Amino acid sequence: MTPEEQAQLDPKLQRVIDYRKSGLSLNWIVGCPLDCTYCVRHTFGNYEMKVPKRLMDEETAVRMLLRNKHFRPFVTPIQLLNRATDPMLPIVKPHTLNMLRLLDEQGINNHVLVITRWRIDPEDCEIFNSFNNIRLTILVTHSGIDDNRIEPVKSSIAAASLRTAYEHAEKYRTILYWRPIVPGLNDSDEHLERARELSHHAHATVFTGLFFKDEIREYYQANGLPELYEDGPSRKIFPELLEQRILANRAGFGSPLFRKTSCGVTYAHGVADYNGHYGVRELCDICPVAQIQRCADDWQRPDESTIAAWVGRLGGEMVTVTDRAVLVKGLPEGRRNFLQHNLHYQVNDIRRPHHIGRHGRADIGWTDTQEAMR
Ligand code: SF4
Repeated sequence: MTPEEQAQLDPKLQRVIDYRKSGLSLNWIVGCPLDCTYCVRHTFGNYEMKVPKRLMDEETAVRMLLRNKHFRPFVTPIQLLNRATDPMLPIVKPHTLNMLRLLDEQGINNHVLVITRWRIDPEDCEIFNSFNNIRLTILVTHSGIDDNRIEPVKSSIAAASLRTAYEHAEKYRTILYWRPIVPGLNDSDEHLERARELSHHAHATVFTGLFFKDEIREYYQANGLPELYEDGPSRKIFPELLEQRILANRAGFGSPLFRKTSCGVTYAHGVADYNGHYGVRELCDICPVAQIQRCADDWQRPDESTIAAWVGRLGGEMVTVTDRAVLVKGLPEGRRNFLQHNLHYQVNDIRRPHHIGRHGRADIGWTDTQEAMR
């Protein structure tokens, strides 16, 4: 990408390293032709950029990552190209594989997450299997959405990729990333059955809803697409009844179901959740017993004075530590995530309390039944 093109990008996209909930995110390539209409790139004004372009080479990007003040070897989870392109597009893939190699050569065992809905071939799996150090997870996004006005890419591509990746997995793990599930669009019994069948080709299945942000809603309105929700809250939308329908047939799934990405990833690698979701105990009601034990053994309420000093150094203020989370104010999301990944304990903003039983999801479609049961 030329410096002129780069200067046109939203400042958030120019920031190659960004701290997200599932890890420190490395986005050195921007642009995607796949046209999923609910794409987060709407929020960066980047949806029309259809040709992926590199902001820098992998060597420079990995140097930036390793020197980033929030990066800790053997601790910080890393996500590759999860914001503005698909890492397995033919033009992007060589760079993704090169980045994985560079990371592996550091000798670090950090989690590395690669999320794709595009093609994975046996030759790719061979390369994934060649890494000895990083804990690599391939998350294959499969929505089952049949309306090609909403999602032109056929879900059969992701389904085939998942099967291939799972069949060849030796040193890495594969997740069925079943999302976004939207009521009325891809939640019929047939859709649920298709996902259940696919879950047999994954080490874990993570199911989740959609961020229907204002910019995405505006795009839907401007293009005459059916509106998916009436409101656009900042958390993911996932109605209670839909979750009950999915969980009713839990025994029929071929891999355990998880509500949170990091729970599925860590289960697949046989380690405790790095986001400390164990503190939000109702999340764990669907988790395998051995994994619950791992998380229980790992989970420790942090000492108040130590954590207050840490929050202060990061520029925020600690409010209190509860059985579920450290509550802070004045800390941006990235720094909260940094703390959370280092403590393995939830770190929440006091202004955005997580309701018991809603799993950090938006209020739409949830009654008070779950709260009332506690
Ligand atoms: S025990 Fe709870 S926190 Fe740990 S992986 Fe399972 S659901 Fe997540």
